[in-house]
Amino acid sequence: MQEWLFHVWTNLTLKLLFTLTVKHPREYTVLSNTLVSSEDTDMRGNTTTTFITTPKMSTYLVSVIISKFVVALTGNEDQYEFKIFTRQSVRNLTNKVVGPYYSKIIAKLNDFTGVTYENISNIQCYQVAINDYYPYSMGEFGLFMYRESDILDEGDKTSPRDTQNILMTMAYKLSHQWFGGDISTKWWSDVWANEAVSTYLKYFIPHQINNEFDLAYQFVVEVIQNALQLDALPVIRPFLQTNLMSRLPEIFNTN
Ligand SMILES: [Zn+2]
Repeated sequence: MQEWLFHVWTNLTLKLLFTLTVKHPREYTVLSNTLVSSEDTDMRGNTTTTFITTPKMSTYLVSVIISKFVVALTGNEDQYEFKIFTRQSVRNLTNKVVGPYYSKIIAKLNDFTGVTYENISNIQCYQVAINDYYPYSMGEFGLFMYRESDILDEGDKTSPRDTQNILMTMAYKLSHQWFGGDISTKWWSDVWANEAVSTYLKYFIPHQINNEFDLAYQFVVEVIQNALQLDALPVIRPFLQTNLMSRLPEIFNTN
């Protein structure tokens, strides 16, 4: 079940520091954009979890997950804290793809941007596999949410297509830590710029790590040729410049 936390400012450059405190039953785990700073459980079994103050961030990126998910994988990097959270029953499904590849993806994104993950001032890198996830958000920051099928593998039964999909989805999501999270466009009408960069990186970052999928060629067929096809349609519209929130969904009309 997903709920809206609060109304957000539509001006993306209006960035704020958030210090969140969540009160919840003890048996639930709470995750947010930054690491936990303190946790107290009272006599009634209610836990109060407080998170480290975030870096300055756009208001729409603030997220909280209250669940019974468990830690399926913990990274051993010193510079940032990497964890994957899943349902208990699927916690063994991270060994074939995410485990061996996540740090390589982050290292390539560090190289590409010239800014390391930890220099974005948020050392948390939590990936969460959600069994019933419909992605509303366009960017994420420190806390990345996936459909289970987009991040979990099936060991030796994992097909090359599924492996490719997990690598691409991870590269796409993590790139939003930089494009959309760390730096923002001024207004939603330009947010296609974040999506364009992330779409490029979801092919080229995995391609640099594992070129057996020929993702650089797939980019030409799936993205460039598709864009040219859409461009040729008589109904295609030019870039939309609007200050009306009601017209913003049109910006995403090709995906
Ligand atoms: Zn996106």
